[in-house]
Amino acid sequence: MIVLIDNGHGRDTAGKRSPDGRLSEWEWTRQIARALCSRLQRRGIDARLLVPEDEDVPLRQRAARANAVAGPAILVSIHANAAGMGRWMSASGWCAFVAPAAGLEARRLACLLASEAESAGLFVRRQECDRDYWEHPWAICRLTRCPAVLTENCFMDNHADCQWMLSTKGKETIISLHETAILHYLGLHPGAGGQSVGSPGAGD
Ligand SMILES: [Zn+2]
Repeated sequence: MIVLIDNGHGRDTAGKRSPDGRLSEWEWTRQIARALCSRLQRRGIDARLLVPEDEDVPLRQRAARANAVAGPAILVSIHANAAGMGRWMSASGWCAFVAPAAGLEARRLACLLASEAESAGLFVRRQECDRDYWEHPWAICRLTRCPAVLTENCFMDNHADCQWMLSTKGKETIISLHETAILHYLGLHPGAGGQSVGSPGAGD
């Protein structure tokens, strides 16, 4: 099984940063994606970065890369969320998305990711109270043939979330929740290490 790790946007994408400019989504998601990819590789998993470049790669091209992979694969696309007004906002927390037409395997992967996020102490946002993930036709999920999940790893325009996302503990929590969920998905056992707790937006 090939594990494709996607990172949102690119160095040349306008906006997509925290109001104070300390967190750029393209850069932060690449840090997380690269660390996650090498951790999975160290465990012997065929993990690959879908977009190793710093520049943005159009979504159709990303999907074409994923669809050109030979053999069974899954895809996880790592993003940072924003309420999007260009100033500090109150929305906070973590969530996972699948395409509305997603199959059972994408939904299983999304549930595993959400469950690890919750175990790590994150507030998991829900679109519907009885479902751990959201449905939305994001191109990267909609256009890829393999099971694909997009994760929004807290809000870069929520001050508390942003501080936490930039912290070593925050990054470690995000990396390891993806690592553990992917290992579970593949039927492997995470073993020792990598367990972190953290709660962004405490008090929200
Ligand atoms: Zn994004």
